[in-house]
Amino acid sequence: MKTTLQINITKTSKSRLQETDFDNLVFGKSISDHMFVADYKNGEWTDLRIEPYAPLHLMPANSTLHYGQSIFEGMKAYKNEAGEVLLFRADANQKRLNESAVRMCIPEIPAEIFMEGLTTLLDLDRAWIPNKLGHSLYIRPFIFATDDYLGVRPSETYKFMIFTCPVGDYYSKPVSVKVEQKYTRAAEGGTGFAKAAGNYAASLYPALQAQKLGYDQLLWTDGKTHQNIEESGTMNVMFMINDTLITAPTHTGTILKGITRDSVLKIAKEMGYTVEERFLTVSELENALKKGALQEAFGTGTAATIAHIATIHVNGTDYELPAKPSYAFSHQVLKKLDDIKYGKVADTRGWIM
Ligand code: PMP
Repeated sequence: MKTTLQINITKTSKSRLQETDFDNLVFGKSISDHMFVADYKNGEWTDLRIEPYAPLHLMPANSTLHYGQSIFEGMKAYKNEAGEVLLFRADANQKRLNESAVRMCIPEIPAEIFMEGLTTLLDLDRAWIPNKLGHSLYIRPFIFATDDYLGVRPSETYKFMIFTCPVGDYYSKPVSVKVEQKYTRAAEGGTGFAKAAGNYAASLYPALQAQKLGYDQLLWTDGKTHQNIEESGTMNVMFMINDTLITAPTHTGTILKGITRDSVLKIAKEMGYTVEERFLTVSELENALKKGALQEAFGTGTAATIAHIATIHVNGTDYELPAKPSYAFSHQVLKKLDDIKYGKVADTRGWIM
């Protein structure tokens, strides 16, 4: 691949490809051979390089370890039948990383460093990209503070890195969720819209409590009233009620602006559905469940694309949603998105690179 930026490449002397079981991939366990690295110092991103995936050397006073100045992205590459590598809406991930960066006082990554670093890495680790339908290469770009300094202030140095992992189907079965009205994922004025590491650390304890009760995930409600449904686990969440697709709006700054969310909403509109970006309240949800008016509920995100919700726990009651027929919207939109991502249909929207 032709690069215009200077990226120094050191190839691994021992690929781990042969010892990777591509038929039994566990999400995030098998990491590809190489990683892209850039350092931020003296006010600029420099020393762009690709190296074998290896441990990092960090000082104990590394500021990320103490104050969590760290952000990330999650995206995927797919192979089409001809073996070509397709990226889905990578530009949107690049922009979102920089939105997170601004909120966390991290210097933005120039688009060309992100894109050329990514495409050069993918070209080198091309053999790691599965060519099975439903399988893909998960891509993890991230930036973290590297100052060896214990004062609380924005770091002066950072690392931007990308590594990748081949992954299979993320969720195989529909999930059960519990409406969470005590804990909160994000507050207005906080960092919910950013993919900041700390958001995920803070969500672990409430998620664990729900898992102990037998639920896969939480349906997060807003931090002020706990009446508005915001997201599901680490996904955006959508509800189909009376053929209207409802999902939380993003203007409060508490919702991660999912790229899958945006893609699903665009496709729903093209299919002629009414789309409402507004908060569904817990009581509205409960009423719809009681009346059997909730046709579909599902999470949207890069990892699973669509995660069907089978059970919703609200105010002490478990409500089961009927199994979805193949013509249900969530199945149709999943197929449409898969067809685009795996290059089975022409890309009319400029989503594929
Ligand atoms: N919400 C949260 C909190 C997430 O972590 C993610 C995963 N990035 C999403 C929603 C879905 O976003 P996307 O569709 O861009 O993966």
